[in-house]
Amino acid sequence: MDILERWDKEKSEDLYGINNWGKKYFSISKKGDVLINPTQNEEQAVSLIDIVSGIKDRGLEMPVLLRFENILDEQISYINESFRNAINDLDYKGTYQGVYPIKVNQQQQVVKEVAKFGKRYHHGFEVGSKAELLAALSEMTDRKACLVCNGYKDEEFIDLGLNAIKLGFTLFFVIEIPGELEIILDRAEKLKVKPNIGVRIKLASKASGHWTESGGDRSIFGLNMSQIIEVIEKLRSRGMLDTLKMMHYHLGSQIPNIRDIRKAVYEATRVYVELVKEGAPMGYLDLGGGLAVDYDGSNTNYINSSNYSIEEYCVDIVEAVKTVLDISNVPHPVIMTESGRALVAYYSVLIFNVLDVAIFESYDIPDVLDPSLPEVLHNIHEANKTINLKNLQECYNDILYYRDKVRDMFNNGDLSLRERALAEKIFWNTMHQVVKKKDLLKFVPSDLEKLENIIADIYYCNFSIFQSIPDCWAIDQLFPIMPIHRLLEHPSRNSIIADITCDCDGKIDKFIDIREMKHTLPLHPINEAEDYYIGVFLVGAYQETLGDLHNLFGDTNVASVRLTGDGKYDITNEVLGDSVDDVLSYVEYDSKSMRKKFRIKAEQAVKDGLITPAERKEILQVIENGLQGYTYYER
Ligand SMILES: *Cc1c(COP(=O)(O)O)cnc(C)c1O
Repeated sequence: MDILERWDKEKSEDLYGINNWGKKYFSISKKGDVLINPTQNEEQAVSLIDIVSGIKDRGLEMPVLLRFENILDEQISYINESFRNAINDLDYKGTYQGVYPIKVNQQQQVVKEVAKFGKRYHHGFEVGSKAELLAALSEMTDRKACLVCNGYKDEEFIDLGLNAIKLGFTLFFVIEIPGELEIILDRAEKLKVKPNIGVRIKLASKASGHWTESGGDRSIFGLNMSQIIEVIEKLRSRGMLDTLKMMHYHLGSQIPNIRDIRKAVYEATRVYVELVKEGAPMGYLDLGGGLAVDYDGSNTNYINSSNYSIEEYCVDIVEAVKTVLDISNVPHPVIMTESGRALVAYYSVLIFNVLDVAIFESYDIPDVLDPSLPEVLHNIHEANKTINLKNLQECYNDILYYRDKVRDMFNNGDLSLRERALAEKIFWNTMHQVVKKKDLLKFVPSDLEKLENIIADIYYCNFSIFQSIPDCWAIDQLFPIMPIHRLLEHPSRNSIIADITCDCDGKIDKFIDIREMKHTLPLHPINEAEDYYIGVFLVGAYQETLGDLHNLFGDTNVASVRLTGDGKYDITNEVLGDSVDDVLSYVEYDSKSMRKKFRIKAEQAVKDGLITPAERKEILQVIENGLQGYTYYER
């Protein structure tokens, strides 16, 4: 594309797909900046680049994770109101009560805000461990909101739950394995508390997707049909069948196809009906998580997408539940879901700056080669000079062959360093021509399709993929990534992104596209005068706690932002990322004894006459600054 071609906001919108994946929350302003716009009112919107500069003025360095309270608030309302509308429209007699699965993002700030914004809908929590239960209880103030306890439960876990019931909370113990029931009933008898029991069932229905191993006959959690009968028998024999109030299943996360969801709801509701017929009071039907996020904005059943909206999800669920219940005249229960990803994904944006760029320019090469050069150089040069549209594939094959031959000859001592360098220049010059010319072909051979990748620029960016977007590294999940400013300029460089870990996996070379994915991301040329900022969007779910300390890069700085409705914003909370001595302490270094060791080493150097005492002081100060500094690149 011509660099001088006129570029505008609409072209950036198309290129980065922001209006597809950004939902109602992200858009591009007339000035070419990414806007946060939770209320769809441009006057209340704030540009990300303004927030970044405000944060820098306050002394917070990049990378920074921004959390937008208004988005979380809106998204909780959106799910709850969508269920409310579906329930009204379909004349369903029960209500909806969601629970937020804490594991999706357990940060205290997040749990606190879910509790706060969820209160008006009695939106509760789902927990899978003692620690998560205590975290939820500490932030919850709404006793009507549900608390669902999944996971393996020991006596201590159960006692915590029973005491929460004593405090007035609406808490359910979900039986995941048959053995749990006995302990719950025994402890409840001891503590004189009536428990609420739920059963997690194994459905035959399975869904397709990345994270859907939780469903199906072989799923590790849940009871099969004969185990459910055993639970009923045991409860009945102890006179406790009246405690069986809830049924639960979880198909897995990010289910892109609404058909899989509907099928599971039908099957599960049939089981629910049978539990009622067995004489259990029931009253709560919990459909688990799985509500997908459309990360690539394609609105398809591709793994990184979703072929349904939240409204459709709600309507389809309420309709399926009602249909099955009405056939058997069973009263309509409270419908629960455990949507985590869909609730918090939009909430957080990771921002980092670009530190440097490696440009893979085409090299100039001579028109004629010195005849005395080895034959292989003449061969590769010949391939370069005779390239045309018709022989593109052949020429590509040839230069790969000659490049390998050049390497072999060099290793055998038959080529000099200068000869090898010349061959490589010719190779890259040819590669650039192949990539340029292939776009003119009607039919691009599959070999050549992804070649942009190997001549793409590398943008070195100030973050760690392992810490901040681990799913991108571990399972190739795609997140929307784009510059947050300069969007009226043509992004003329095709690029891949490298992080600052020294791991060859520390890179992003797969990006969202309307069809599957692309292998390079168009970015703007960087300039000396201003920093260039890139945002990774929709990272609120799962990324924060899965992240690890690869190369000892720690937690990033985090700022919670609230838009105030007048085009301005408040920073409501600021959490400094890990310092170097924080991350060292996570791997059992004791910073006190480290400092002592450095003092001794420096003293020895003074004794040995290598440094003066004054230099010792300076060196120790440098070490002190290093220990207290941010783990990322500081300007
Ligand atoms: C992980 C998990 C969820 C969350 O699923 P999402 O797809 O993120 O909504 C819900 N319920 C259970 C039992 C889970 O393990």
